Amino acid sequence: MESEQGWRTKGGRTFHNDPSCDWLHKDQNRLRVIGKATHEVVEVRWADVSPGQLQPCDHCCAPAWLERHGREHRADEKPCLVMSDDEWWRGTLVWEPVRRADGLWWATVTYDKKGQHVTEVRSQHDIRAR
Ligand SMILES: [Zn+2]
Repeated sequence: MESEQGWRTKGGRTFHNDPSCDWLHKDQNRLRVIGKATHEVVEVRWADVSPGQLQPCDHCCAPAWLERHGREHRADEKPCLVMSDDEWWRGTLVWEPVRRADGLWWATVTYDKKGQHVTEVRSQHDIRAR
């Protein structure tokens, strides 16, 4: 079971539905350790993948995961970088539909920081597109 749109690491062999999948980031770390420079996460369409080229991730391509993350929810979830402790962390965000009274855009961000899955509400100042 796979979504149409997913993510993989360059040089990795696994297809992920979830850009913040723990296993995706483990894949990245593994490639980094063996000295491969091509470890960034890239978007991929399942339709573009040749048979046998990529394996669906057991974690985020499982039916249970797909059920938890409906397609509509995924559509407005965007990859981003989140500032925390003077460092940028990879994650995803969902913007609030309107600006707040302070004139800023706020979003619910989800990111992995030192192996911990963090969900917070942050303003545009702490968020970068990636
Ligand atoms: Zn995965």
